[in-house]
Amino acid sequence: MGRKFFVGGNWKCNGTAEEVKKIVSTLNAGEVPSEDVVEVVVSPPFVFLGLVKGLLKPDFHIAAQNCWVKKGGAFTGEVSAEMLINLGIPWVILGHSERRLILNESNDFVGDKVAYALSQGLKVIACVGETLEQRESGSTMDVVAAQTKAIAERISNWENVVLAYEPVWAIGTGKVASPAQAQEVHFELRKWLQVNTSPEVAATTRIIYGGSVSGANCKELAAQPDVDGFLVGGASLKPEFIDIIKSAE
Ligand code: PEP
Repeated sequence: MGRKFFVGGNWKCNGTAEEVKKIVSTLNAGEVPSEDVVEVVVSPPFVFLGLVKGLLKPDFHIAAQNCWVKKGGAFTGEVSAEMLINLGIPWVILGHSERRLILNESNDFVGDKVAYALSQGLKVIACVGETLEQRESGSTMDVVAAQTKAIAERISNWENVVLAYEPVWAIGTGKVASPAQAQEVHFELRKWLQVNTSPEVAATTRIIYGGSVSGANCKELAAQPDVDGFLVGGASLKPEFIDIIKSAE
């Protein structure tokens, strides 16, 4: 099916210029599989995008952590998709649960963002995932399907989309989903794509897992047939990110 393994590093709102330089030099020095085997995308805070772009080796790529929902203009504090393209930033993370939950980004708003970012030529890591309460009430699939539907009804081409399944209860908590739990949701999401988009989209779209991925647990997760890579938060700031990239092999 040829879904290239994808490893994203979400640095969130962390780091100083000095720390960022250190992370990049560790990354640049890491011995990792070639670009044919794994696509690596790191996502620094906006203010460090230029710095990282200037230092990061070209085998690795860069994502912003968000962008505005439409064309830029009178939207104080926002960064537009056009600006990211202008700076040569190819990727953007959209719909991260921290933005959905803390900043109240709705499914529709995230769907609009994904559609607009794609229309401007960005590639998108689109995040979906349920809270602990939703999982415990048995609505995991309903929640992630509704989040995915808001995207699917606004786009027709999934070529530049990576879908990140990130259960909220696993993000930054150290409580990683078991390989079976991750596989179950990824399988269901792929089935959802097959029914609601097309068999081709289902077969080719990468579905990556995020939530307390570490050097210690990545291998078992990566071995699941529908896990096509990771979105990594905390561990992407540490040297173990290299080990996570290596789980592609
Ligand atoms: C994330 O923020 O996307 C994430 C998965 O975080 P962590 O790896 O720290 O759980």
